[in-house]
Amino acid sequence: MKPEIEIYDTTLRDGSQGEGINFSVSDKLRIAEKLDAFGIPFIEGGWPGSNPKDIEFFTEAKGKKFRNARLAAFGSTRRKGLAVESDPQVRLLLEAETPVVTIFGKTWLLHVKQVLGATPDENLGMIGDTVRFLKDHGKTVIYDAEHGIDGYKDDAEYALATWQAAEKAGVDMVVLCDTNGGSLPAEIARITTAARGRLNVKIGIHTHNDIGLGAANAVAGIEAGAVQVQGTINGYGERTGNCNLTSVIPILALKMNKRCLPDAALAKLKELSQFVDEIANFRHDPRQPWVGEAAFAHKGGMHVNAVQKLFRSYEHIDPARIGNSRRVLVSDLAGRSNIVMKANELGFHLDAATPELKEILSCIKKLEHDGYEFEAAEASLALVIRKILKHEQPPFTIEGYHVSNRRDKSISVCQASVKVLVDGVVEHTIAEGDGPVNALDQALRAALVKFFPQLKRVQLTDYKVRIINSTAGTGARTRVLIESSDGKNEWGTVGVHDNIIEASLQALADSLEYRLMKK
Ligand SMILES: [Zn+2]
Repeated sequence: MKPEIEIYDTTLRDGSQGEGINFSVSDKLRIAEKLDAFGIPFIEGGWPGSNPKDIEFFTEAKGKKFRNARLAAFGSTRRKGLAVESDPQVRLLLEAETPVVTIFGKTWLLHVKQVLGATPDENLGMIGDTVRFLKDHGKTVIYDAEHGIDGYKDDAEYALATWQAAEKAGVDMVVLCDTNGGSLPAEIARITTAARGRLNVKIGIHTHNDIGLGAANAVAGIEAGAVQVQGTINGYGERTGNCNLTSVIPILALKMNKRCLPDAALAKLKELSQFVDEIANFRHDPRQPWVGEAAFAHKGGMHVNAVQKLFRSYEHIDPARIGNSRRVLVSDLAGRSNIVMKANELGFHLDAATPELKEILSCIKKLEHDGYEFEAAEASLALVIRKILKHEQPPFTIEGYHVSNRRDKSISVCQASVKVLVDGVVEHTIAEGDGPVNALDQALRAALVKFFPQLKRVQLTDYKVRIINSTAGTGARTRVLIESSDGKNEWGTVGVHDNIIEASLQALADSLEYRLMKK
């Protein structure tokens, strides 16, 4: 299926520039895999010229197979006064070995003169040289016209000249950027139309949300003929964020009838949104349009018999189409079908007639009520389903543990001992670590590796802690999310407890048990 409108995700680059966001390399890989599985055709992975973490991301990504997505490396036009082939920043773009390279360059004379300190002609040369060089190396080249909208408003002819410089050099697409995020939909429409009138190359749109119009401006660009939209999941990004793809995707698909993603993708939109928030360690915004918990929550009593009919009159779409649900009466049926879908995705054979389904559903509801979240911890969810479905004993049980922390002058020493039971055999090990959780992890792993050598390759790649709001009558609880890897696959597990060590141990034990389940 060829999309009418291409979705270009920059959560990992522009999005990661948002306040409070700090993705590790393993976070970025997990998000990239999720976006690919969702069906996003372009994933901008980062800017290799700006930081070593992004170089590492592209190195790791070379070993991954993406089904739907093409990876893009992001960078800038060559530096002033330097031959393009001698520019280290441009060279790093080639070394990222991505099929797509996106470069940004200056449209606005204010920036050319005062920020770059270049002449208008020098800037045109920088754009043309860089595009041509990357095209000569076989790349699909996308040109992000930074301040495209503001630059055009200031000097339309020069703005057009910069875009034409990219076009003449063979660029595949010119993307108009509302970098400062302050433009209005009518301005975006007018300038997109003008660009289309003067260029033969495809046009894309990249907007920011500084005045709350990020998604509206993207829609205006598309209505005026742009065929690619760049944005981020949940609208992450500099200042108030980028155009929110979590809004734009369903607007395109459901309101404008534009083909943009595989048919099955939309129903997973809410899950994708929650997943990315979990990885970023943000609470999911309940008032987020489309995918928020409150997006289809109805307050106020209505007659039960009238409910189905009345809901339609108060909802702009059926929330199930984007994987959300209405909240007044969470229908048992919707819950069931979600679990069946998820379980099948995780490799279990389950349908509406499976007798264990009811127990699985009520167990998950109880865990969620207790503060568990499974969007980024599918491995823990798989264990819950397996336990009920297969009536199997877990491969090991933790009989007991002890953690101590002491300080000798300036050195703090953490020690943990763990007692595990495997097939009637007890193993007791002690280990040290840089912190209590690390010591516990070392001890647990040392005990289990004797029985299960395949656990040697498992590494803890990330560890996140969140304090969950206390609900009526209970104290605050701690949720721990752990990411693990065995060099081939990454998976997430979760633990919840009043005590952070207990919560961590649950997530650690789940991580190892999940690896054993995968054989
Ligand atoms: Zn941007």
